[in-house]
Amino acid sequence: MRKIPVKKNCDVEGCSKESKKTVSREKAGAAIKEAGLNLSLKEKVTKAHLCADHYRKIKKRLKKDREIERLRWG
Ligand SMILES: [Zn+2]
Repeated sequence: MRKIPVKKNCDVEGCSKESKKTVSREKAGAAIKEAGLNLSLKEKVTKAHLCADHYRKIKKRLKKDREIERLRWG
């Protein structure tokens, strides 16, 4: 059987664009919520797929997260 590449769509509620980036559900969920949006993920899913637009929207927040972690551990 031939493998068909699965095209994932953005996991942000109401968005049906093709996903470009994968972010851990925990980080993406928090950042998306801060942006006033919701993820439409099932309980067991640990990765969130985001389209380019939504990834750009939360990218800054993700970076801020990393900096906080660095301060905490450094
Ligand atoms: Zn999207």
